[in-house]
Amino acid sequence: MPDVIHLLPDSVANQIAAGEVVQRPASAVKELLENAIDAGADEITLIVREAGKTYLQVIDNGKGMSETDARMSFERHATSKIKSAEDIFAIHTKGFRGEALASIAAVAQVELRSRQREEELGTCLKIEGSTVKSQEFCNTPHGTRIEVKNLFYNIPARRNFLKSDAVELRHIIDEFQRVAIPHPHIHFTFINGKSELFNLPPVGLRQRIVNIFGAKFNERLVPVEEKTPILQLHGFIGKPEFARKTRGEQFFFANNRYIKNGYLHKAVCNAFEGLLQDGSHPTYFLFLEIDPARIDVNIHPTKTEIKFEDEKAIHVIIRTAVKHALGQYNIAPSLDFETDQQFSMPGLPKGTPVERPGITVDPTFNPFEDRRKSGAGKASPSLHPKTPMQDWESLMNELPDLDAKTNPQERIDVEPAARKHFTQVGKKYILTAHGNGLIMIHQQRAHERICYERLMESLESKNIPSQQLLFPQNLNFSAADFQIVESLMPQLREMGFDIDEFGNHEVVVNGIPLVLESSDIRLVLEQLIENEKDFRGNKKEDHLGKMAQVLAKVSAIKIGKKMEQEEMHHLVDELFACSSPYVSLAGKPVIVNLHLEDIDKSFN
Ligand code: ADP
Ligand code: MG
Repeated sequence: MPDVIHLLPDSVANQIAAGEVVQRPASAVKELLENAIDAGADEITLIVREAGKTYLQVIDNGKGMSETDARMSFERHATSKIKSAEDIFAIHTKGFRGEALASIAAVAQVELRSRQREEELGTCLKIEGSTVKSQEFCNTPHGTRIEVKNLFYNIPARRNFLKSDAVELRHIIDEFQRVAIPHPHIHFTFINGKSELFNLPPVGLRQRIVNIFGAKFNERLVPVEEKTPILQLHGFIGKPEFARKTRGEQFFFANNRYIKNGYLHKAVCNAFEGLLQDGSHPTYFLFLEIDPARIDVNIHPTKTEIKFEDEKAIHVIIRTAVKHALGQYNIAPSLDFETDQQFSMPGLPKGTPVERPGITVDPTFNPFEDRRKSGAGKASPSLHPKTPMQDWESLMNELPDLDAKTNPQERIDVEPAARKHFTQVGKKYILTAHGNGLIMIHQQRAHERICYERLMESLESKNIPSQQLLFPQNLNFSAADFQIVESLMPQLREMGFDIDEFGNHEVVVNGIPLVLESSDIRLVLEQLIENEKDFRGNKKEDHLGKMAQVLAKVSAIKIGKKMEQEEMHHLVDELFACSSPYVSLAGKPVIVNLHLEDIDKSFN
């Protein structure tokens, strides 16, 4: 037998290694931005086209590279940042593995221009798929400029794996923010196609956050500060009353490097306990300064997950510091703010328990009132384009047997709807007797199902009932969230929103889908944004379906809503007109059938 093992050519080995470091355009952006910071730049520009898939460029005014260094920088494990293994434990730079440039050059067409300040001429190097194409002297400003074209041009499988431009751009914005927040003294500019997404002049941390996330953040931030022998903690948390339904702004940095750590995230949530409405997420920007020897940043190639030596202690420090900050702000709200004068939340005396805010239900909102009759100018809400189900009881007869023990063939005899009496239990369930027992319906799930199916039907028929607002609403978003809203415009319009861009990360909403009649429009859009951040699919139908689910959830009646006989009747009517009345949007039961035998059993 001949020998079969041979060494892979460098270009192939580099491609394989690149997979770990460069998963998408955003990974390249992160590495290039970090290199620019490590080079001591105070002016960094990022330019992308087509979400970085075809083109991305980072320009810095850092220390630049010599001709040889430029060449060396693309070799794997070539770094100027460490010399020996011990150095890893005293790392103060972003990079140290010496893999990023080699990886990027393995999977793209790269052009580097770099000049050290004291040199007259710079060097221009072109490299494609790990092969150096040329290197020449050139005129170039001091610092470094790296252009990355056609990422994954030589690995079609990876290129096809990339998501839509909107999704990839969002990843880039995420990475950009993670680098821009902890370096407020650096001037960052981010240009996407023809538009400038961010222009962040050198400022302090608070102002940097405000510049990224919008002026409204100024009044929302509460400083956090704690010095202990293990670590120093500083930064800001968001006041609880501004907590949002979207998870967006949660940032931990360890030695100015963005990190993810579920355990520390819990520490913050813990401190907020009892102060947030259900489903709201705390905002935080927290910076840990810690001896690099006490952390291990090496466990993940892209270095966002890190291990701490004293995780438990750090958890306690964070929780206490955040609690402390929340407490201080409650006592003396005005002391914390340099700029905010209007802030007027009354201070609570120390030790006063803070009550969890309750759910407010609009008592006048009646989802069942026949809107077709009301409001002359309104379009028909089209309760159901199909024939309304006069004979819903026949469908009820097809109720699947949720109790597997009983005969699945068994049909339920139901009396005609007209004679049915409904009882509401716990402001949550609708009960009605039928021949063989009791039918129980979950009112919220039922109505979500109804709203969802109505929306989907109108989407299919391209006839979404919408309603013009008497007072158009202007809503302002952070650059990142605005990006999402912008990318959603066509879908939003398709769903019945009359919405336009207003400039300066603002949109104006002139009309809304009728199902949203009495909903908080900002909240609706925030939930759609949140949904978008989680949505990773590509299919258009799935996407609209997901959005319809969000709208259905917002507009549906909730648990806790008292319902009159007529309303319950109407709800059940509509539920049985649905194509899948039995399962909720999350796949849980909507209708439960309690058989006579089960009832009998309870009396044994
Ligand atoms: P690492 O950052 O882990 O050292 P990289 O592959 O990212 O590895 O970079 C390799 C080397 O190239 C760096 O150590 C640095 O010396 C040099 N380098 C990369 N980018 C720049 C830049 N923008 N300015 C100056 N030097 C750079
Ligand atoms: Mg690097």
